[in-house]
Amino acid sequence: MTLHTETLIIGGGLSGLYLAQQLERAGRGYLLVEARARFGGRIISPSIEHSAEHFDLGPAWFWPGQSRIAKLLDELDIPYFDQAARGKLVFEDPSGQVRRDLDMATMEGAHRIEGGLARLIDALVSRLPKDKLKLSSPVQQIKMGEDEIHVTIDGAVENISAKQVIICAPPRLAAHNLKFSPPLPEPTIQQMRACPTWMAAHAKFIAVYDKPFWREMDLSGDAISHKGPMMEMHDASPQSETVNKGHGAIFGFLGLPAQARKGQDAIIIEACKQQLINLFGEGAASPIEVFYKDWSADPYTATKDDANGPQSHPHYHGISINEGDWQNRLFFSSTETAPQFGGFLEGALEAVDNVMRRF
Ligand SMILES: Cc1cc2nc3c(=O)[nH]c(=O)nc-3n(C[C@H](O)[C@H](O)[C@H](O)COP(=O)(O)OP(=O)(O)OC[C@H]3O[C@@H](n4cnc5c(N)ncnc54)[C@H](O)[C@@H]3O)c2cc1C
Repeated sequence: MTLHTETLIIGGGLSGLYLAQQLERAGRGYLLVEARARFGGRIISPSIEHSAEHFDLGPAWFWPGQSRIAKLLDELDIPYFDQAARGKLVFEDPSGQVRRDLDMATMEGAHRIEGGLARLIDALVSRLPKDKLKLSSPVQQIKMGEDEIHVTIDGAVENISAKQVIICAPPRLAAHNLKFSPPLPEPTIQQMRACPTWMAAHAKFIAVYDKPFWREMDLSGDAISHKGPMMEMHDASPQSETVNKGHGAIFGFLGLPAQARKGQDAIIIEACKQQLINLFGEGAASPIEVFYKDWSADPYTATKDDANGPQSHPHYHGISINEGDWQNRLFFSSTETAPQFGGFLEGALEAVDNVMRRF
């Protein structure tokens, strides 16, 4: 049986879902296929038992001046608040000596979504028709026929007749995992491989506590460590510091390179817990839950080429196809294709705006 659609969207992260929303609004045909058994891609916000609070293991912030994401949240009636910034920053030197008296708030001004970013994904998914979204459908091959595009998903050929395909997955990942028939032009493949997937080299740890106890110590939850294993920590409590009730949480980015983290999850989690006691005192000794995610080990985000992330924010640009059969049939729209806000959540939306103008 052939499934007929105008546009095949590959990837159900923020970019793919926002594209689906735009096409739905425009009354255009589409089918979205997502490799994982969940939507959201790099957005993932697990919760603790018996609580509606969620904690962001992927992105957590957006910033003033990122108007698309602010507008989308307003439209979906999702409130956001300012990153906690009151109180001192904790600093740990390479020998483990700690000081808790620094007047610095490294993420002051950033915004967080009340209840976690997965709320945005849930809101988008709940407004789209279920029969246009397919989970657990990793695309492996895209083959162009006369009028039809045949897609191999999870080992089986599915006949999907589509006028165009839009890849809403990171270009480097697509170059690594997707086979194109006929092949993409070499310059296009090279651009895709050279495009680092933002934050794919990173790992994030979160500890959840009964309450944000550090606020009573006049600490903001921010910490910088030159010892590790976490190098940068922030308050990840699910609500604004002005509310100051509910659970508290601190998250940290690991400083260890991806290669050194491989197969070491249990040891790393213990070391992170210990580090939080060293930095924030005995109040940190009894987290009610911890979460850990190593993005470099996730096959639907990272490739082996992402093990060493870029030192600074890359200058992203669109992926172009200037010759051959795929011209005007295949487009790219993950955050890594956005020239202005590439890498950020805002870029995932910017990429959609750009691709919508092209077909
Ligand atoms: C730890 C971490 C922290 C971050 N912090 C921030 C932050 O604070 N602020 C910010 O703005 N940004 C942050 N980012 C970046 C942010 O997560 C991304 O900009 C955004 O989520 C990208 O969305 P996307 O839809 O473009 O890509 P993705 O979320 O990667 O979505 C791509 C989708 O394609 C699917 N897919 C892949 N291959 C296939 C296939 N073969 N077939 C079908 N589907 C496939 C994937 O499963 C995925 O669902 C962070 C990222 C990480 C990992």
